[in-house]
Amino acid sequence: MADIIQLLPDSVANQIAAGEVIQRPASVVKELLENSIDAGATSVKLVVKDAGRTLIQVIDNGCGMSETDARMSFERHATSKIKAAADLFALHTKGFRGEALASMAAIAHVDLKTRRHDDELGTQIIMEGAEVISQEPVSTAAGTSFSIKNLFFNVPARRNFLKSNQVEMRHILEEFQRVALTHPEVEMVLLHNDNEVLNLPIGSLRQRVVGIFGKSHNQRLVPVDEATDIVRITGFVSKPEFARKTRGDQYFFVNRRFIKSNYLHHAIRNAFEGLIPSGHHPTYFLYLDIAPDAIDVNIHPTKTEIKFEDERAIYAIIRSAVRQSLGKYNIAPSLDFEQETSFNVSSKEPSELRAPAIHINPDYNPFESEKSTSSTASSTPAPKKESTKGWEEMYQISKDFDQATAAATEVEIEVEETTETTQQVISSNWDEQEKEATATRLTVQLHSRYILTSIKSGFMLLDQHRAHQRILFERLMNAMANQESSSQQQLFPETIELSASDFSLMKEMEEDITALGFDIAEFGKNTYVINGIPADAGDDSPVHLLEALLEQYKLNSDELKIDRREHLARVLSRNMAIKPGKHLGAMEMGQLVDELFGCEIPYYTPAGKPVVVTYTLEELEKRFEQ
Ligand code: ADP
Ligand code: MG
Repeated sequence: MADIIQLLPDSVANQIAAGEVIQRPASVVKELLENSIDAGATSVKLVVKDAGRTLIQVIDNGCGMSETDARMSFERHATSKIKAAADLFALHTKGFRGEALASMAAIAHVDLKTRRHDDELGTQIIMEGAEVISQEPVSTAAGTSFSIKNLFFNVPARRNFLKSNQVEMRHILEEFQRVALTHPEVEMVLLHNDNEVLNLPIGSLRQRVVGIFGKSHNQRLVPVDEATDIVRITGFVSKPEFARKTRGDQYFFVNRRFIKSNYLHHAIRNAFEGLIPSGHHPTYFLYLDIAPDAIDVNIHPTKTEIKFEDERAIYAIIRSAVRQSLGKYNIAPSLDFEQETSFNVSSKEPSELRAPAIHINPDYNPFESEKSTSSTASSTPAPKKESTKGWEEMYQISKDFDQATAAATEVEIEVEETTETTQQVISSNWDEQEKEATATRLTVQLHSRYILTSIKSGFMLLDQHRAHQRILFERLMNAMANQESSSQQQLFPETIELSASDFSLMKEMEEDITALGFDIAEFGKNTYVINGIPADAGDDSPVHLLEALLEQYKLNSDELKIDRREHLARVLSRNMAIKPGKHLGAMEMGQLVDELFGCEIPYYTPAGKPVVVTYTLEELEKRFEQ
């Protein structure tokens, strides 16, 4: 039988390799940007069209390539960065595998223009599916420009696997940011569909962080700086009060390479222990400088994992460095751990706690006068009466008693009528006796948090925050379904400046947010102006509301497979709902109870938490039994 094993043609081998190196447009971005940095560029520009589907171009002012090198650069395992295996342990460059360009050429149309600074003419090479289409001298700026067009044109499976433009753009941004965060000495610009998304001039690391994530980061971060024999740690961590519920901006760089490490992440968490509530995450940008021979970066093809020779020591050093910084900058734990969302931390003082207002008149005697019988709960204090004796007075009392009974019957009749009208508003799942209670309702606020109200079969406790959440949620859902969200226009519209990635996320949500009653518009770079907010938003700050939506959206978008709008309505209702600690008047409480039981599902919050707890008379009797 004939031998059957043969060597794969280069084009096929490259395509297979490409599968590993280039998974999505963001992978191209990463490889090209890293090549530019390795080439010593001081200015790098990334131009993206349609989230990288049609074009990814990186233009740098680095060293450029000779004609031969330009051609060689597309060969697999062709690299200028290492020569022998030993070099792997002394890496100072980002690339070293010599695979990236070969891979790109196999699955896209590539247009390379490059010129070394001392050469007069440069070289242009056009590749398609690993074939050289043309190679010519060209007059071009010193440095290199790679254009990658029609990515995955010959790999339909990959192309179809791509997510929405917004998602792909987010990945691109993430890669761009990772490079930008390690090279503040390089000017970096990002354009998407001709819009300037980021423009980062050369500056300090702090300026770079602020340039990417927005000015608000400036006062949130404290520096970390610690040098030991085995590692030097620099960078920033967030002050504990700015910890968030999303595990968002957390960056570890080792020798200027972005890495992921749960182990080291744990070291930081550990340093923050006791300073932030559980479930919250600090922001950090930490840079480890370590001798190249003490790490192995070669264990993962996309190189975001790393092996340290002395992991435990590094853990301990990170932990103590972060602890020290937090201590040095005198950061006291000042958080309210009870907050339900990270967003609740508002500048406003919570309204002061008040004891429930129950007015009891110890001298109240229902037989005293007609007047007092008709007002039950909030009786006006009756003047103290001298003790009465004698027939006349006896007679008087008995007469009063009759009148009182008559008045009481009247009250009952009134109740019936009220119930009639209320009934129309109250939905069917609210049973008869409870409806009646709504009408004669006595409400008491307990600990500025719960509302106690009596029902015929006993009494109920409502969680005011959750009840309001349910009401707002259903209102928002209905409004969206009927496309009639009402919004209150802002007299002084606020602007919200976002990081580039949050900005693209906001764009993703814009339509839904508008449906909820927000009136927002793009307002310059990475900024939105908030012209209107949902009518029910109360006195919460519009910026806070939007931030909460973003935050929670990021947090839950991967976990919850519920409808996107429903999710937003949940988040928004939670943030708009009256908070625990807010004092409510009788009218407000009454309205809340009415509206709650006008809801489709009054007993649970949109997230399924109980809103109402009922105590029956039977239960109460049992508890009083000996
Ligand atoms: P690697 O970066 O692992 O060496 P690549 O396939 O990414 O492999 O690049 C191959 C070679 O092409 C590099 O080693 C470098 O010599 C050259 N090269 C790539 N991009 C640039 C650039 N922007 N400027 C100068 N040379 C470059
Ligand atoms: Mg490379």
